[in-house]
Amino acid sequence: MSRVIIIGCGGVAKVAIHKCCQHPEVFTDLLIASRTVSKCDEIKAKLENKTTTKISTAKIDANDFDALVKLFKEFKPEIVLNLGMPYQNLVIMDACLECNCHYLDTAAYEPENVDEPVWRKRYEQRRVEKGFSSYFDYSYQWEYMEKFKEKGLIALLGCGFDPGVTQAYVAYAKKHEFDVIETLDILDCNGGDHGYPFATNFNPEINLREVSSPASYYEDGHWIEIPAMSVKHEYNFDGVGKKDMYLLHHEEIESIAKNYPEIKRIRFYMTFGQSYITHMNCLENVGLLSTTPIDYEGKKIVPIQFLKALLPDPASLGPRTIGKTNIGCIFTGKKDGKWKKYYIYNVCDHQESYKEVESQAVSYTTGVPAMCGAMMILNKIWTDSGVHTCEEYDPDPFIDALNKYGLPIKESHEPILVD
Ligand code: NDP
Repeated sequence: MSRVIIIGCGGVAKVAIHKCCQHPEVFTDLLIASRTVSKCDEIKAKLENKTTTKISTAKIDANDFDALVKLFKEFKPEIVLNLGMPYQNLVIMDACLECNCHYLDTAAYEPENVDEPVWRKRYEQRRVEKGFSSYFDYSYQWEYMEKFKEKGLIALLGCGFDPGVTQAYVAYAKKHEFDVIETLDILDCNGGDHGYPFATNFNPEINLREVSSPASYYEDGHWIEIPAMSVKHEYNFDGVGKKDMYLLHHEEIESIAKNYPEIKRIRFYMTFGQSYITHMNCLENVGLLSTTPIDYEGKKIVPIQFLKALLPDPASLGPRTIGKTNIGCIFTGKKDGKWKKYYIYNVCDHQESYKEVESQAVSYTTGVPAMCGAMMILNKIWTDSGVHTCEEYDPDPFIDALNKYGLPIKESHEPILVD
């Protein structure tokens, strides 16, 4: 029996809402709260006759701490799933602390305005000291560790697929396959085709910021930064076939490097087609990826937000996307003194996802882990309080839940290595 709030009602949230409603024994009362309440009402109307989960909806601006506290005090959730934007992570964490509820999200904090001077100063310092220049990092949320611990609450960060399941795969590999892990390559392949010349599979602002930032990887205790899209490999993915993948900075590298210091090298790769890259370069060259507001006919416009309004809504890609995703981790390391390699991954079909929850597989592979992570906390399977990422908990019950609820693992002990 538990009361849960989901903030946001986009592609990822809709999958999580569907999946929570498939488990009314755990998710008894669900409040969907987002900026555009009509989207919440629409999904409520679709699901309420198919589940015994009691669904309610509310309008919320997640930037507004007082409004969040009022909503949380009225509804009294045990956990809040922040499936909106990462810009609001900190204010939602503050409201959870104020109202004594657990917290979960799927992306590390980053500010909406990256020219804000206080944030900028700290960012420039981190760039120099740590050596990576993505706009997101975990430091802001890790600072909440003691506050969540003191209250016996959990803040589970980045509980989607990557970040999220990929970190549980690290804990799983360490528990079952290796005495020591030496290298890790995280491979995220989307072999889906939505038929548009250009669209992003999740929130365009977050997606385009991530992809256009300099890339980096972790080796021998240091970050190594390289220009965006400058390292490319072709890989033959199970269920998808051969795809070009590019080295990117990604947030789970930061937490895995902290929690598994034995791993000498951690890299993250994502697949992109040439058309995506050509469009992205062009949009960047004309200034449409900028987050700095400009004056346009007496109005302030943020170019990347204007671009988001022009692009197809990721939540609308579901019916037209065909093909599969394949996301997983390739490890090398030692077991009983012998060198070995191991690959653990999931293959998810866009159309199968759509049939089940009316969403494409990128939203599906994020929303299902968010539901499973909430289940781990609500069923008191993951109990260690404080601010944590998925590799810090026992991976077995989480991976069992993923196996049962839509994202089963596949394994290989003879994978082709990236290089
Ligand atoms: P969408 O853009 O589809 O949805 C975002 C939702 O948040 C929308 O419903 C939007 O409202 C709502 N929202 C935005 N601002 C506010 C606000 N101030 N107050 C209340 N609600 C707000 O994004 P996605 O569903 O694609 O992505 C959701 C999150 O998941 C992102 O943080 C993304 O980075 C992350 N993600 C993580 C992945 C992983 O594997 N870990 C993979 C993919 C995504 P409105 O409808 O009014 O616009």
